[in-house]
Amino acid sequence: MPQPLASSAPDLLSAIAPPPPATVPPSPRVRVLLPLPLAEPYDYRVPEGLVLEPGAYVEVPLGPRRCAGVVWGDAAGQVEEHRLRPVTRRYPVPPMPEVQRRFIDWVANYTMAPVGAVLRMAFGSLPALDLPRPVTAFCRAAADLPAGMTLTAARRRILGLFEPGAAADGAARTLPDLARTAGCSPSVVRGLIDAGVLAPVVVHPVHRPPQPDPHCAGPLLSPAQAESATALRAMVTAADYQVVLLDGVTGSGKTEVYFEAIATALAAGTQVLVLLPEIALSSQWFVRFQERFGAPPVVWHSELTPAERRDAWRQVAEGTARVVVGARSALFLPFARLGLIVVDEEHEAAYKQADGVLYHARDMAVTRAFLGRIPIILASATPSLETLANVESGRYRRLELPARHGGATLPRIDLIDLRRDTPEARRWLAPGLRAALAQTLALGEQAMLFLNRRGYAPLTLCRRCGFRLKCPNCTAWLVEHRQARRLQCHHCGYSAPVPERCPACEAEAAMAACGPGVERIAEEAASLFPKARLALMTSDTLAGRHAIEDLVQRIARHEVDLLIGTQVMAKGHHFPLLTLVGVVDADLGLAGGDLRAGERTYQLLHQVAGRAGRAERPGRVLLQTWQPENPVMVALAAGDRDGFLASEAEQRRDHGMPPFGRLVALILSGEDEAAVERAAQQMARVAPRRDDVMILGPAPAPLAVLRGRHRRRLLLKAPRGVAVQGLITAWLSVVSLPPAVRLQIDIDPYGFL
Ligand code: ADP
Ligand code: ZN
Repeated sequence: MPQPLASSAPDLLSAIAPPPPATVPPSPRVRVLLPLPLAEPYDYRVPEGLVLEPGAYVEVPLGPRRCAGVVWGDAAGQVEEHRLRPVTRRYPVPPMPEVQRRFIDWVANYTMAPVGAVLRMAFGSLPALDLPRPVTAFCRAAADLPAGMTLTAARRRILGLFEPGAAADGAARTLPDLARTAGCSPSVVRGLIDAGVLAPVVVHPVHRPPQPDPHCAGPLLSPAQAESATALRAMVTAADYQVVLLDGVTGSGKTEVYFEAIATALAAGTQVLVLLPEIALSSQWFVRFQERFGAPPVVWHSELTPAERRDAWRQVAEGTARVVVGARSALFLPFARLGLIVVDEEHEAAYKQADGVLYHARDMAVTRAFLGRIPIILASATPSLETLANVESGRYRRLELPARHGGATLPRIDLIDLRRDTPEARRWLAPGLRAALAQTLALGEQAMLFLNRRGYAPLTLCRRCGFRLKCPNCTAWLVEHRQARRLQCHHCGYSAPVPERCPACEAEAAMAACGPGVERIAEEAASLFPKARLALMTSDTLAGRHAIEDLVQRIARHEVDLLIGTQVMAKGHHFPLLTLVGVVDADLGLAGGDLRAGERTYQLLHQVAGRAGRAERPGRVLLQTWQPENPVMVALAAGDRDGFLASEAEQRRDHGMPPFGRLVALILSGEDEAAVERAAQQMARVAPRRDDVMILGPAPAPLAVLRGRHRRRLLLKAPRGVAVQGLITAWLSVVSLPPAVRLQIDIDPYGFL
């Protein structure tokens, strides 16, 4: 509902009269934070009669527009009285809780992002600040039709919608809804309204989500599970800050055990937030939640429609959303009374946000728990070194689930040494793996081939002149996707048809695919096992959650014999008939010099291996590698997770690397390479000089050009106790970057491209 803008009055006044003398008491002001990349809140005047406590959602003028914001405290008062514009109105929504505001401030300080950009995440793109527009609905007013009105079939269907036990159970419905559901024309409904059989009511269509029932019975827990569950229940009941690492092999029942903690929090009347690394890959999780609690959780992810988003946001703010499940951004929702956070697969790199505000959702979740004085559970079969270091130092508590549930055994992992057991030319499956596949398929069991590389081939070159097809915008090769008949850049999304002649020497039919992607592995498997039913599982072939769910069900029904896919297949799924997993290129993640390459490869391959033998039949895993003596491969084959992690930790400690030291990446980028280089040199010249702080670079980033922007990076390395944000602020205060050069600061970087 547009309202007249009251702000023109003071502006007019200032044009004709000098500002009022200082003796006039200043009008009440508030600071309002806007969800825009602004470093601080703006001052506004509080119009008479409006009460605005901190946290209130308000509408304010901003230039010619109006913008929703949050009252961030009393105004500091630097803005001259006559420049102050008034708050236009307050929204009918519960104020943002204090802990949420402190959290937003904290995240902004830590990540060095503008606080308004962090608030924006709490708004969830479209704020649901206004009550949904009221609509007129109809309910049944009279039991009988008036005399003279016959009960036709259409009228009977309409009235049937209000009978007890009908889908909406007597609730009021709109006219179009009634006509549609009853399958009759609107005039029939109107007739019943005119006759007084249906009566109008005004409703605000705010949906209260179905409420999960904490008292539904869970499964009978094993003694080890029961012990952990008891500890978690006690922690939730204590309702204070505590971090627990729930550490157990895949299939040990971590989910079942933290469901017990969720039940306790629900019974205590608080809200629960569960973070999952990839909502789209979690369909089985949702089925289990529904079975356990008799109702679905409220979900928060990027695929929600604007209406769903508004509903969910409001339900969280009003407290009717009891369990919220989301990817990292759900952490910023304005919970009315959050009582427990669960971060599942806490080691997942997907928790690090890679653009906008660069934050790590696991770490920020721990901070949110700390500020709110509530417990948090981190669950993983392969905990991160960060979390393990916190366990070691006593900051986090560890609960262990040592065995797979129900006697299922962990799969046996063997290495295939590609130097000895070499595939034929332009083939990628070693004879040893092929034999194992043949055997598994002959037994009527399922097998899976894993290669973490989308497309058909990672590189296409000209056999005549050696020319390689490269992305015009990035330092990257174009990847051939044969199913889509396109070349694609996996960094910027550029795509082009596969050329018939070489763009350099114009030779015809000379372009050759180099190396395998999953599509090429599928081609090889199809020629080896023509009778097997194959399915390809990658983010290219599966659009959205339903496609994945569909495939997962087909696999569970054994309509697929051989599954071939990328990491979308590695997560969470439980395939009881799957007994063989073959990893085509186990070394893939080790190249590239990433600090966490070894740790991540271990985690990913361990997770992939965990897909095998989840039920009674034992599983087997074969890893094809060129470097069987690499510590990652040795540890995987020996099942020696703790030994591997200990040696990784020792190396990191020796080099002062995370989690024992701190890193900050500073990336300069711009379209003009020379300007970027000059800016990088300038920054390096005035870099902080301290004995304990090291500045590495500037150097071209491995992705030296990305989306047409040239990139240089500097890396700051400091001991754990150093407050790097202060150092960087001081550093940046003496550099002035040209406007065409952008600086991105990444505290605790996880990507090194
Ligand atoms: P994790 O989260 O550690 O991978 P899950 O909780 O997913 O383990 O459990 C693996 C499988 O075992 C699931 O299908 C789960 O339903 C089943 N399961 C675990 N614990 C029990 C139990 N106590 N009773 C019955 N089934 C269980
Ligand atoms: Zn590109």
